[in-house]
Amino acid sequence: SQRWSLSGMTALVTGGTRGIGNAVVEELGGFGAKIHLCSRNEEELNKCLDEWKVKGFEVSGSVCDVSSREQRQKLMQDVSSIFNGKLNILVNNVGTNKRQATTEVSAEDYATLMTTNLESAYHLCQLAHPLLKDSGAGSIVFISSVAGVTSIGTGTVYAATKAAINQLTKNLACEWAKDNIRTNTVAPWYTRTSLVEHLLADKSFLEKTISRTPLGRIGEPEEVSSIVTFLCLPAASYITGQIICVDGGMTVNSFN
Ligand code: NDP
Repeated sequence: SQRWSLSGMTALVTGGTRGIGNAVVEELGGFGAKIHLCSRNEEELNKCLDEWKVKGFEVSGSVCDVSSREQRQKLMQDVSSIFNGKLNILVNNVGTNKRQATTEVSAEDYATLMTTNLESAYHLCQLAHPLLKDSGAGSIVFISSVAGVTSIGTGTVYAATKAAINQLTKNLACEWAKDNIRTNTVAPWYTRTSLVEHLLADKSFLEKTISRTPLGRIGEPEEVSSIVTFLCLPAASYITGQIICVDGGMTVNSFN
């Protein structure tokens, strides 16, 4: 039924070539959405686009580093012209980390994480607002992290950017409800992607991580993309301002 379909809807997914963003494109496409994605590596982007086109997806892409204000503006111009000024779904997925002790964080490290993880998403919401409003039914989904909910040793700047996203979710939900734009966040725990593969390759780190996880394993990107997609469906039309942890139960476990 219409409640469980994204047919005719348009979506922008940042960082869609690998990891969680890639799974999000795959899942939104499977529900019938037309998707525009971006990443920095042109070759990888074109390879992904070709594969999805073979599957019959309506996909397009831009090479864009979302940490650049100019490139974000150009990206939203592309999106607006491709989708005729209407955008139903914005998935702010790009995020990165550099793990270090707070006493070691340089001004440059601080600025890079703030710009890439927080300012990019904030500004893309601003740029997308008229398009989301004109779609008649808009949905923003941020990918934050359980690091923005509780301390998990990722480093303080990363945690602060993710906690800021969590609060931004609540404020935007209230501010833009009048425009029928819903705003929600998905906060994952360790998920098997290129961002964390080097950490998960460390056996003692992996064992410690799993021991804190009631479900006893690391998450998969498809286990995050499923809830992202649900939040964009008409079936989720009364859900806004929520932070949903996809964490195998980690944040409710205080025993290990
Ligand atoms: P990956 O590093 O595996 O993938 C990131 C994707 O984003 C790639 O497609 C990458 O392509 C693109 N990207 C990265 N930086 C930029 C940029 N500046 N501009 C445009 N595109 C960019 O990351 P994940 O899938 O693991 O992470 C996605 C989100 O999930 C992040 O916000 C992360 O913080 C969050 N998260 C991840 C967890 C995990 O365990 N994996 C846990 C909790 C949260 P390219 O490099 O070519 O630009």
